Amino acid sequence: MKRLQGNQAVSGKEDDYYFPFPVPNYRFDQRNEMFKRRTWDEEFIPWGNQLYQQVKYKDKYGYRKLDYALRNAAWNIEYGYAFGNMRSNFGLYSWDHIPDKAKRFIEHEGPVSYGPEVNARIVKKAARFLGADLVGISYVHPNLVYSQELDLTTMEHRPVEVPEGCVHAIVMLVAMDYDSCRYSPDAISGASTGLGYSKQAVVANLVAAFIRGLGYRAIPSGNDTALSIPLAMAAGLGELGRNGLLISRKYGPRVRICKVFTDLPLRHDDYKPFGVTQFCMACKKCAHHCPAQAISHGEPTMEGPSLSNFSGVEKWYINPEKCFVFWSKNWMDCNNCVKVCPFNKVEGFFHDIVRYFIRNVPILNPLIVLMDDLLGYGRPVQIRDKNFWEKV
Ligand code: SF4
Ligand code: SF4
Repeated sequence: MKRLQGNQAVSGKEDDYYFPFPVPNYRFDQRNEMFKRRTWDEEFIPWGNQLYQQVKYKDKYGYRKLDYALRNAAWNIEYGYAFGNMRSNFGLYSWDHIPDKAKRFIEHEGPVSYGPEVNARIVKKAARFLGADLVGISYVHPNLVYSQELDLTTMEHRPVEVPEGCVHAIVMLVAMDYDSCRYSPDAISGASTGLGYSKQAVVANLVAAFIRGLGYRAIPSGNDTALSIPLAMAAGLGELGRNGLLISRKYGPRVRICKVFTDLPLRHDDYKPFGVTQFCMACKKCAHHCPAQAISHGEPTMEGPSLSNFSGVEKWYINPEKCFVFWSKNWMDCNNCVKVCPFNKVEGFFHDIVRYFIRNVPILNPLIVLMDDLLGYGRPVQIRDKNFWEKV
């Protein structure tokens, strides 16, 4: 079956830990992910070349050399040092890197552990100190680890395995900037994405160094190695939205996700749904505002429309092919499905009240969507209102 091409069935023998919701009964081959397909799938190579190898400035706010300079600066840590979008176990996401100066501390007196409960508290405190905005801990379900990856630095296609015993995932969210995100789909919005990737690489690297400092294994990961969204959900950090993104309680979908796999004993968090699925039934703002019409207007299904979907459980699947082609035609990535989401709000008392009603009085959901529209959330930023560079 074409959909499973390259993907790997799993035995499901790992029953030692609880995972709070069903996952597909196979492992996804990361070669089939859209950003990897653009290197080997003939249908998408030209689109990939246009997006990644050509430059086209426009005389238009958000697409000028100035705007691209900001976007490229924001991505600089990821593209120049981290390489989490290229392969696993490399750059800032190296699995074993310990600076010489730190080795004597790590080797001295062996590992230190205070038990799963206290370890979890300590690790969360350290992760927040080191830059994570939200932190949770989950079991690493083996089906969520990629069966194989395509290394974009060598084009090698090879199996992925997390080292034995590293069954705990410290999952961390890094919030993207609210204001720049509103400019989607231009380079100013692209800068919010790039900065999220650069920050999460630093956070994952530092948290891995902290775990190694305790004397345990630590495998930092961005988009490589394993699927982030289900791990973040299991770690109590949010729910899956119609837009195919993690919807976190505090920042909505305006987050990037990184994780560190470890053998340090840790207590896992619980899955904490807060009404997103029901709200998405009534909302559909992301589907209406998607310029590629890549987001479903219908009910959840068991299967996605493309080889790039991890099919096999009931959820909303986006069409990554349509999304990617739009990015290429736009010469820039897009955040429309982030910016228009009613869960994407800055912190505040009023928004907390709305979240309370979404969680507890779902009958009000259509009214809340209507209010969101009437208040202008998600409306495209008009040229006359574009003032990213003018505001200090
Ligand atoms: S990123 Fe843009 S094109 Fe892609 S699904 Fe979201 S709104 Fe649609
Ligand atoms: S925009 Fe609406 S439908 Fe889409 S993910 Fe957000 S809440 Fe759900």
